[in-house]
Amino acid sequence: MKVIAPGSVIGIIGGGQLGRMAAVAASALGYKVHILTDTKNSPASFVAAKTFVGPYEDKKLLEKFAHSVDVVSYEFENIPIESVEYLAELVEVRPNPKCLKVAQHRVVEKDFMKEIGVPTANYRHVKNAQSCSKAFKEIGPHCILKTAQLGYDGKGQHKIDENTVFAKLWREHELGDCILEELVPFEKEISVVLARDIHGGAMPYMPSQNIHNNGILDTTIAPADIPEGMDEKAWDIAFNIADSLELVGVLAVEFFVTKDGELLVNEIAPRPHNSGHWTMDACVTGQFEQFVRAICGLPLGSSAIYCTAIMKNLIGDDVNLWEEYIKEPDAKLHLYGKDEAKEGRKMGHVTLLMSADDELVEV
Ligand code: AMP
Repeated sequence: MKVIAPGSVIGIIGGGQLGRMAAVAASALGYKVHILTDTKNSPASFVAAKTFVGPYEDKKLLEKFAHSVDVVSYEFENIPIESVEYLAELVEVRPNPKCLKVAQHRVVEKDFMKEIGVPTANYRHVKNAQSCSKAFKEIGPHCILKTAQLGYDGKGQHKIDENTVFAKLWREHELGDCILEELVPFEKEISVVLARDIHGGAMPYMPSQNIHNNGILDTTIAPADIPEGMDEKAWDIAFNIADSLELVGVLAVEFFVTKDGELLVNEIAPRPHNSGHWTMDACVTGQFEQFVRAICGLPLGSSAIYCTAIMKNLIGDDVNLWEEYIKEPDAKLHLYGKDEAKEGRKMGHVTLLMSADDELVEV
């Protein structure tokens, strides 16, 4: 696989905060970044050398974008796969389109995990109220129903129990292709972020613990407080997934830790991940720099930790607290340059760096 040297142009599909932070890391290594997005004034556009705005299905736009860059990557999953496959005919796409195909459909993702021997919660593919009711009898009595595609940050998810009226739920939410999952009574949620290079060498970060609120990541504590040996178990699963997908880039794997110490994969993302933001300030090489190194075929940097860290997302009005956070000498504030602090919108994050004598407090 080709090395993309500094001075080259990296194309990123998606203009959100992940693209923005990737572009900043890329520019520190001497690259230029071009963004392809369907939204004007996106966070990444303010730091990119060039932004192409238009529908992701527009072939002419895809061609212009492809011809302007040396390699293409993506910063979110909800991109039409046909567009990414078309781009791959014109320019190297890393991670390869199969990674996106698997990650963007929850049933394809879970089926893939089964195929490669990775444990997940029990699940069924359901397409209407009838099949959902039948599946519920098999894997109930506590389940969660998720749209198979286009759901993120807890959107498109419904808790299901014996009182659920399936026909009503289906009608009210205009549901279609969905996955019904067993509700896992997990002890905690952890994730592993890793980078895999063009030669198949992988570099993982320490697992972090993630606390969600209404399906949205609220806080990450790194490293996660887990029993000895669980980090290796989590890494092995993440390596297996990355190798099986022949992924070149960054992969995040989210796990449920059960009461018996079992690890179940919840979902994967073939890109830098919110639960890896702490690495930017607490590790030798942050996940965005590692992403740039991996997709450009450069050697990976060390993922060693300088100090433990707590990352807190600034969601909606939380961003108004920036003046408090900026006063904290050990807090690293990151703002995404979004205008409107809508409810549930990720506006920034702050990472609190802990010295060796600080006690890691529950958040
Ligand atoms: P997801 O969009 O699949 O990452 O779900 C968002 C959050 O909802 C997860 O991080 C969990 O906190 C919760 N959740 C999702 N699926 C399940 C499940 N099968 N069992 C228990 N909690 C879940």
